[in-house]
Amino acid sequence: MDLFKPMDSQPDSSGAEKKELEVSEHVKCLILGSGPAGYTAAIYAARANLKPVMYTGMQLGGQLTTTTEVDNFPGYPEGIDGPSMMEDLKKQAERFGTDVRFGLATRVDFSAKVKRVEIDEKTLIEADTVILATGATARYLGLESEERFKGFGVSACATCDGFFYRDKVVAVVGGGDTAAEEATYLAGLCKKVYLVVRRDELRASKAMQKRVFNTDNIEILWKHQTKELLGDQVVNAVELYKNKGEADEEIVKKEIDGFFLAIGHTPNSEIFKDYLETDETGYVITVPGTSKTNVPGVFACGDLQDKVYRQAVTAAGTGCMAALDAERYLGEQ
Ligand code: FAD
Ligand code: NAP
Repeated sequence: MDLFKPMDSQPDSSGAEKKELEVSEHVKCLILGSGPAGYTAAIYAARANLKPVMYTGMQLGGQLTTTTEVDNFPGYPEGIDGPSMMEDLKKQAERFGTDVRFGLATRVDFSAKVKRVEIDEKTLIEADTVILATGATARYLGLESEERFKGFGVSACATCDGFFYRDKVVAVVGGGDTAAEEATYLAGLCKKVYLVVRRDELRASKAMQKRVFNTDNIEILWKHQTKELLGDQVVNAVELYKNKGEADEEIVKKEIDGFFLAIGHTPNSEIFKDYLETDETGYVITVPGTSKTNVPGVFACGDLQDKVYRQAVTAAGTGCMAALDAERYLGEQ
């Protein structure tokens, strides 16, 4: 059966008509993604003799390569910088024989028992099992200054970086449950938290709203939008539009030490959507307590399927589950 046929008529990313690809190799276990979930799945799969092949995606090592200090991953009593930690995980996965390759999955076909995955629009791989560990991407506002200060006062993870702002003043942008949760978490550490909300109400659940309203050191800046972050080496202030687009629009400035984004994440699930069940925001749905997706032989782990915890250690834990589930699936075949 020509699995890729329905999609082969579609143009590729350059707009050219798609050529049919020859299958170049058949593997027992293909892992997509090189974050903590992917590498942990690789360690377990390699030790179980599944001879895993991993494609790293464009961000070798995943999200943690964009952060300086990781203080909450067990096993590093002094903390560790994100890139070094991910290098350690890579070495550990390779030590047991994982074939780690740089490349991006560009299309998949999960319609038959043998799965097919296209890499970089030029290589076609067949796999008995596929472990998806493609993570999620935090949304940013898109400001130039935000990009410049990433890791130097700008963060998208309060649980990860809040500790560095003890007794300082921070701002959190967003009005959903994440923003409410991050703001209350930071309020426990920081002197003051500004919650920057673009509308005059929160999207967060009533319970979360109540927690925010009952926290003395959170000040909500209603109808404020970020204009620019200011500072030299690190962030020291934020400029905001108040009542943007209205007659009384004004620009206000707040002195802050940290700026936290909490405007949502986008799971990297786009190319799987034709086959896998996702929730309304694109997170892959797994059978509770397992890494199984709705397609037998396809397993999902890490932030791709987790919109609640989104931590390195939980990603690693579910990566382990995915490899064990894949091993059991192969054993049953
Ligand atoms: P990711 O780390 O997101 O990795 C996804 C991988 O998938 C990447 O390698 C990417 O290249 C690959 N990929 C994507 N698309 C494709 C594709 N089509 N084909 C092949 N590969 C693909 N958590 C903590 O526990 N402690 C911290 O201190 C901490 N600090 C953080 C700091 C920052 C700035 C950020 C952004 C996050 C932080 N987190 C922290 C959260 C943590 O990084 C994530 O929970 C964790 O990395 C999720 O792991 P993952 O393996 O699911 O995915
Ligand atoms: P979300 O519900 O989509 O909320 C995103 C928030 O960011 C909204 O308030 C939105 O404003 C704001 N926003 C988006 N783009 C913005 C921009 N460019 N500038 C300023 N503000 C912007 O995302 P989330 O809070 O991450 O939650 C995602 C899902 O996870 C939700 O279903 C949530 O309930 C769930 N969750 C649950 C918990 C919990 O139960 N403890 C914790 C975290 C998350 P508008 O409101 O104006 O659109």
